[in-house]
This record gives sequence, C-alpha cells and structure tokens, in this order.
Amino acid sequence: MEKICVAVRVRPYASEESMNGSFWKIEDNRISFHRAHETPASGPSYAFADHIFDESCTNARVYELLTKDVIRAAVEGFNGTAFAYGQTSSGKTFTMNGSDADPGITRLAVKDVFDKIQTTSDREFLIRVSYMEIYNEEINDLFSVENQKLQIHESLERGIFVAGLREEIVNDADEVFRLLESGEVNRHFGETNMNARSSRSHTIFRMVIESREKEHVMGREMSTSDAIRVSVLNLVDLAGSERIAKTGADGVRLKEGKHINKSLMILGNVINKLSEGAKQRGHIPYRDSKLTRILQPSLGGNAKTSIICTIAPEEVHIEETKGTLQFASRAK
Ligand code: ADP
Ligand code: MG
Repeated sequence: MEKICVAVRVRPYASEESMNGSFWKIEDNRISFHRAHETPASGPSYAFADHIFDESCTNARVYELLTKDVIRAAVEGFNGTAFAYGQTSSGKTFTMNGSDADPGITRLAVKDVFDKIQTTSDREFLIRVSYMEIYNEEINDLFSVENQKLQIHESLERGIFVAGLREEIVNDADEVFRLLESGEVNRHFGETNMNARSSRSHTIFRMVIESREKEHVMGREMSTSDAIRVSVLNLVDLAGSERIAKTGADGVRLKEGKHINKSLMILGNVINKLSEGAKQRGHIPYRDSKLTRILQPSLGGNAKTSIICTIAPEEVHIEETKGTLQFASRAK
C-alpha cells in the first residue's frame, strides 16, 4: 500500500435553506464547483489520486477504502496516523467519532485492532492507549485532568515521547470506548461566531500495539524475548483550519488561532515533504510544532498515513474549502 493516502470528503448540507443551487460536483477523481445551472464548472476544480467521498458516504466506507490498511499495518508492526483536516463544521469530528448509527474512524479502528488480534494466533499482544490534546501549543492529558502542559522528550530507549502522559493498558474495545468517553469530557471548546462549540485544539488518540511471537514448547505457550514488535497508531482530530479573521477572533481566540494556523501549516509542510519522495525531501520541519513532533515517528519512515480532508458544500464556505483542497493537493 502507499504510504500516504489522501481523501476529500464532502459533508451533507447543513439545512435545506443552505442549499442555494451551487454544489461541488464529483466526477471520478475530480471535484469542481458549480453555480446553479451553470455548466461547465464555474469555480475551482481539483483532481486527486485517491478518493473523493460525497455526502452520502458513510464512515464505514471511508474507513474501508482509506484507513483500514493503516490500522491493519499497525497491528503488523508499522506505525500509522489517520487524521481529519478541515474548517470547523466540515465534519472532522463526525468522521473521527461518528454517531451511534455510523461509528467513526476511531471506533472502527479500535474494533478492528482487537478483531485482528483475535485472529492472530501466533502472537500475543499488549495494547496501551493514551489521549491528549494540544491547545495553544500546550499538551494536556485527556485521561487525567491534572496532567497539564506536558513536555516532549526523546530518549534512545523510548524515542520521542510525552513525559507523564497517562497510558492505560486495555483488553478489549469496550474498555477503550469507555476511556474515550471520559476523555471527551475534558476537551477544550471555545465559542466563536462560526460554530458555538468549535474545537480549538488538536486531539490525538494513541494506541501502542506491542506484540511478540508465541513459542509452543511441549504444549505450553512460551514467549521468546526476540521478535518483539512495537507500533504506534495515532488517530487525530485536528483543530479547525479556518483563518482567524473570519471568526472575528480577538484576544484569547486570536492567540489560539495563531497557534492552530501555525501548527497546521507545519503539518502541511511536513506531509508535503514526505510525499515528495526521498530525494527532494531535505529537512523535514517536525520540530517546528508540538503536533508534528509528537507524530514524527508515525509520519515518516515506514509509517502509513491516511488523511481525510473534510469540506462543507455551501458556497459561503468556498474560500475555506479551497484552502482545504489545496492542503489535500499538496499532501499527495
Ligand atoms: P468539525 O468537527 O469539522 O467542526 P463536525 O464533525 O462537528 O465538524 O460536523 C458539523 C455538523 O455536521 C455536525 O452536526 C455533524 O454531525 C454534521 N456532519 C458532518 N459530517 C457529516 C456526515 N458525513 N453525515 C452526516 N452529518 C455530518
Ligand atoms: Mg470537531
């Protein structure tokens, strides 16, 4: 499979009133903007190598076509990252968290990891999960509210890690879902005039999947100390990518916006460099933001990445949508 897969996902119209006749038309790998009754495209048009999902697409299908391979590879020992990128209200959280009727990428991934473990009879697994947010370039633990402003460290033994972050050992998917629910309560939400509960923080749900070979000795199962695999899987719901001016931000909101814009820009630069291939890469600016620093081991090297760029269909959002489609274009 390819290392970086990028998809665009259009969410449904927010309401009947918001349908004014304009629309994003999807034809194979092309998405273009059309005003009412105008053909051909009256606005920007983009082509992509991977998938473009229309508003009727379920999370289950997005998972199946885009993210499943990343999760399967993680169980086999490859680091992976799946994230949703887009402006506030474009469907990032819907994509990652989903609804009861249509569970999101995170739930599907967690379930898939445990299903895969069940069917891997020659290895034994240890799964640890953590959940953090990056808010104003500060890392907070969503499993433990007192763990605030955590620092990133690096050691030979552990690689890059967030010092003090709580990790929970988990045995089944339901345990993970309960933990996620408790962590959700601690997320930061800010009020902006674009969306009353717009998310101003990046959240990273992380699974560390450790496994080793089982050795069958005289009917007993013994573990060999070699052949240990450790992989890290990150499922990320990014903060809204909208430019700050549009949300009428000032003071605290302005500071949040600047941090968000900067870290998303650096993420875009990192992904862009990675997708350019080994030769042209040069320096990859992982260290320029907490987000990319934390994700570093799960973005480069052998890691697999799936990027879901969510867009809103309404014409009022066209400038932000263009920004998101440009991010998607640069990622591939
Ligand atoms: P974001 O996290 O990007 O700010 P949300 O995921 O909160 O956006 O989506 C905004 C609204 O649109 C929510 O009410 C959400 O339930 C709805 N929504 C988003 N995407 C879809 C979708 N694919 N299908 C149905 N409803 C969606
Ligand atoms: Mg959200």
